[in-house]
Amino acid sequence: MFRHIGRKVRGLAVALCIAGMLGAVGAAAFLYVAKILELIPCIAICVGGLLVSWLSSWVTYCIGDTHVKLERLEAKLIPKPAYAEYLAGNNAPRGACELCGKTTDLINAKIEDQLGVRYRKVCRECFAANQCTEAD
Ligand SMILES: [Zn+2]
Repeated sequence: MFRHIGRKVRGLAVALCIAGMLGAVGAAAFLYVAKILELIPCIAICVGGLLVSWLSSWVTYCIGDTHVKLERLEAKLIPKPAYAEYLAGNNAPRGACELCGKTTDLINAKIEDQLGVRYRKVCRECFAANQCTEAD
């Protein structure tokens, strides 16, 4: 919902600018056609509305554009933490081996021996030493 919000804010700036301009022209035309105001004040409302809408869209667009550029910089400068890749499913789970306690990359292992069948998250060494098979 709020991912890449900068692009959405830029789009919102354009949409608000167009809506504001149409609103200013529409309001001025309505006020003139309904004979509520004379021609000169209606032209002033139209021109003023167009200017205010255009200028105020700069602020909104600038905020969105700054966010887009910051996101680009952040992606280049700040390496993704390991948990982000873990959450993306690209990395082996990391933590303490459930057999020896060493903190490293873990394998979901199925251990079959005289005690029966167990499932543990183990390190590579324990995986090899206990004749495990991969479990998923
Ligand atoms: Zn281990």
